[in-house]
Amino acid sequence: MSASRSAVPLASLALLVLAATRSAAQTPTLPPATSLVPLRVVDPAWIDTTTSACVDFFQYANGAWLAHDTIPAAYASSGVGRDMSDRNELVVRAVLDDAAARRATLTPRSTLRKLGTFYATCMDSTAIEVADARPIAALLAGIDSVTSAAAVVARIAALQVRGIDVAFRYSPDVDPHDAAHYVTWLSQGGLGLPDRDYYTNTGPAADSLRSQYVDHLARLFTLAGQPTTAAARDAARVMALETELAKASLTRVQRRDPAATDHPLPVAELRALAPAVDWTAYFHGIGLTAPVTRLNAAEPDFLARVSALLQTTPPAAWRAYLRARVLAAAAPWLSAPFVQEDFAFRSRFTGARELLPRWKRCLRETDGDLGEALGEAYVAKTFPPEARTRARAVIDDVRAAFRERVQQLTWMSDSTRAQALDKLARMGEKIGYPDHWRDYRRLETVAGPFVLNVLRANVFEWQRTVNRPGAPVDTTEWGITVPTVNAYYDPSKNEMVFPAGALVPQTFDPNADAAANYGSLGGSWAGHELTHGFDDEGRHYDAAGNLRDWWMAADSAHFTEQAELVVQQFAGYVQVDTFHVNSRLTLGENIADYGGVLTGYDALERALQRDGRPGLIDGYTPEQRYFLAYAQSWRGHSRDASLRTRVMVDPHAPERWRTNGPVSNAPAFARAFGCKPGDPMVRPPERVPQIW
Ligand SMILES: [Zn+2]
Repeated sequence: MSASRSAVPLASLALLVLAATRSAAQTPTLPPATSLVPLRVVDPAWIDTTTSACVDFFQYANGAWLAHDTIPAAYASSGVGRDMSDRNELVVRAVLDDAAARRATLTPRSTLRKLGTFYATCMDSTAIEVADARPIAALLAGIDSVTSAAAVVARIAALQVRGIDVAFRYSPDVDPHDAAHYVTWLSQGGLGLPDRDYYTNTGPAADSLRSQYVDHLARLFTLAGQPTTAAARDAARVMALETELAKASLTRVQRRDPAATDHPLPVAELRALAPAVDWTAYFHGIGLTAPVTRLNAAEPDFLARVSALLQTTPPAAWRAYLRARVLAAAAPWLSAPFVQEDFAFRSRFTGARELLPRWKRCLRETDGDLGEALGEAYVAKTFPPEARTRARAVIDDVRAAFRERVQQLTWMSDSTRAQALDKLARMGEKIGYPDHWRDYRRLETVAGPFVLNVLRANVFEWQRTVNRPGAPVDTTEWGITVPTVNAYYDPSKNEMVFPAGALVPQTFDPNADAAANYGSLGGSWAGHELTHGFDDEGRHYDAAGNLRDWWMAADSAHFTEQAELVVQQFAGYVQVDTFHVNSRLTLGENIADYGGVLTGYDALERALQRDGRPGLIDGYTPEQRYFLAYAQSWRGHSRDASLRTRVMVDPHAPERWRTNGPVSNAPAFARAFGCKPGDPMVRPPERVPQIW
């Protein structure tokens, strides 16, 4: 995916990697409603009336649902994300089944034929079993011939072009100091475990996980034909090399500071920083023909370490490492023993007990690789133009409400305020689907081993963007696909993006009451994304997307001091076992949730004043339904294994705290439900952050 590196998605991957095992209708239309969970923005059936709203609002809003829901075996979590993904995946499946069935009748250049071929080769499990690991034999043989540091670099380049994450990352991305143009970014990467901390943490649990990882690598090597002893030796080599890379990597919390990854560099200095890499040969190897004179070395120490490791680590260890990265990337698309080995290891991080059905795995890979080819058909089936218009109206109200808040802030100086209002006015928004669909003419998909089609799609994506450095930024590009259940704010483009896949009940229903839509789309999505432009990370970018400090010193000091209250608040919440919420990793999201709840509420009040107040609905006032919609938009629960992983890698707090955290800071919530000072859902005024 091509979301800019700094883009901030609304929800965690853990929330989205979900979905059910029920089989879907084969017809290219939406299945009957009875085969799907009926989605409502506010559903009174989920409310636990035995819990007081003023004691635990998440439990109140969702408790009746939580009491009866079981996370399906193939999933890490269950809830809103899974319901919405299930719905969207049935729509997408109908498109793919249709494309696969008709592919032989379509011209070879047709995008629909490429889509159908890609999906059909993924679904052809018979051919995949027969082929075993042979489709990647040539790739592995290329690694076997590596005997020098220069040859290692040449292989790194060749694998990166195929979308395999090895050693470090090259990406043409927005220039932090000239947001109108792309620049070359070189960043840390190349680890097999989900975070650098897994390599450096101490204690029995961390030791055990590392030894399981080494065993997993050894089994992958054995499956690929290595004798057991050699496989074990190579697995240990990979662990040693990756540990060196991990130690040189910044932590996720460090990388949240835009200044920490901002190191503009003339190419001549790159040669001094990482002399063991022949950068001219590397750039040639990845197909970069645009002249590169300067770049951003996001983590200079990491690049220096890669260079040192090229000099000190024998080629045999590099060969083992490169093989491991290829096998890990290919395993999900090879024969069953590889798939099972890959799943068994990855499930340690999710808690899932069985594989997703093949069609879901294939569908997700197709969406990831050819998403825009799917998007057009998805929109035609499920996102009428009126939905876009109605969603835009809610977002407009949220913008107006936030503008008013900024205008009235007593702590902000007029100078900072003027720039904040300018940034807000110039903030872009994309709703539903791209205005231009991606051109897939240069992509080739072939009736052969699926894993090779995946590699072809990766090469296509690489070639599409590799020569961007120096070119104007494509402001029409989307960073997530249309059926995705998520949204994001991109500070380097100063824009919010809401795909059609996220604009379905229970996020948004054109036929629902205002309170429901403003609580869900307005508060937890639009208000959230909008205030990301002003969170502890986003505030460092200006209206044009440049990394530039436009804050008066006193305003910055106030913001930082209040943000520290948010850090303290979330540090008090337990995530799982004895782990508390990682409140520095999740700070930006927690600030955005808080801003979203306040802003969405104001937007609702504006809408009610303008359009009139309805009476009680299901016994609730509009203000109560606003907060219910917000809390129910986070309805969900996760397996403990998934929560443990999320403490390490996820910038979002668990859904319970995304609800209770911001809501307990909002005076309007206490008013709506008659909560009193001292109630658990009413935080003492001196501990309530004064930001927006
Ligand atoms: Zn967010």
